[in-house]
Amino acid sequence: MNYRPHPFSWCPAHEHRHATKAAKWHDGEQVTTLCGASVTAADTVLAWLWPTCERCDVHAHELAGVPMPPKPRTSAKPVRRRSAGAR
Ligand SMILES: [Zn+2]
Repeated sequence: MNYRPHPFSWCPAHEHRHATKAAKWHDGEQVTTLCGASVTAADTVLAWLWPTCERCDVHAHELAGVPMPPKPRTSAKPVRRRSAGAR
């Protein structure tokens, strides 16, 4: 039996590291992720280095019962782009 400390598993797919409630998955298998997508699992070294899906990260934290870490502050004011032609 695999060690599984939390009720979710990470599952790389479609260039993001998603999370799923599926206990097991295999490369090429169709998996439903915590963010609600149906994706094809990718089990390669490169796939495990894909960035974490933000929505799955939030759901995984909820399932694990831990709060999300505060977002890093990059700037006090959000940068807004004005649409071309505005004034
Ligand atoms: Zn996701």
